[in-house]
Amino acid sequence: MGFHKFAPTLDVMGDRGWEPSEVRWNMCIIRLLNRILGMNANRISRQVFEWDITSNGVWARDIHDILVRTGLEDSLFRKEKIEIGVVKDIFFQQTQEKWASDICYKTKLRTYHEIKHVYGLENYVMYNLSKKKYSLCAQLRAGILGLHIETGRYVDTAVEDRLCSLCDLHEVENKMHFVFYCPFYDSIRQNLFKKIDKKFEFLWLEDFEKLKRFFKYETYAFATFLERAWSLRRKAMYS
Ligand SMILES: [Zn+2]
Repeated sequence: MGFHKFAPTLDVMGDRGWEPSEVRWNMCIIRLLNRILGMNANRISRQVFEWDITSNGVWARDIHDILVRTGLEDSLFRKEKIEIGVVKDIFFQQTQEKWASDICYKTKLRTYHEIKHVYGLENYVMYNLSKKKYSLCAQLRAGILGLHIETGRYVDTAVEDRLCSLCDLHEVENKMHFVFYCPFYDSIRQNLFKKIDKKFEFLWLEDFEKLKRFFKYETYAFATFLERAWSLRRKAMYS
């Protein structure tokens, strides 16, 4: 998927709008409950279900706990089928709220938190980007692209000393320096900026907002910029 093993799960899940496995599992159980509730009373499965409910069995307790989380537990007592669409919306809402709360506490996802507010599929995931472009987009968003700000962590370099070695600005090589400020990439950056500045008063925006708009409105152009810039960087640093 273009991620390495240190990719934060919250980013991977959030940009794809995936349902957590627990939600998928709960939905399977609720669908099974609906099937049983639709069965004739003389079916063995239905009789076992009735016995389990009456004796407060494990299955009954599990499904009760799941329904309590959705506020629909009364349906179980009334033995009414659960509206799948309703329960799905409730789970999605809960997933989004938990995700929004969790990303606030991940330092690595500071930028991600600024540019991503809604749990759901992102343009760069839907676009038919090459594996390289896709991977660079995903890593930049997740704060795991191998810039000095990230690689310096592995060798205990102080944050303020994780400088860019490709220019004379004496700035920390973080994603904003890489994308917006490092003069080493000026020539390839100009085309990208020209393109988006026709649509918005781009230069007046905060860096986070600029990044958000690149991903949203100029996905392909931005991914191409990342690919070229990253290739230039590799050549300059390792050849
Ligand atoms: Zn630089």
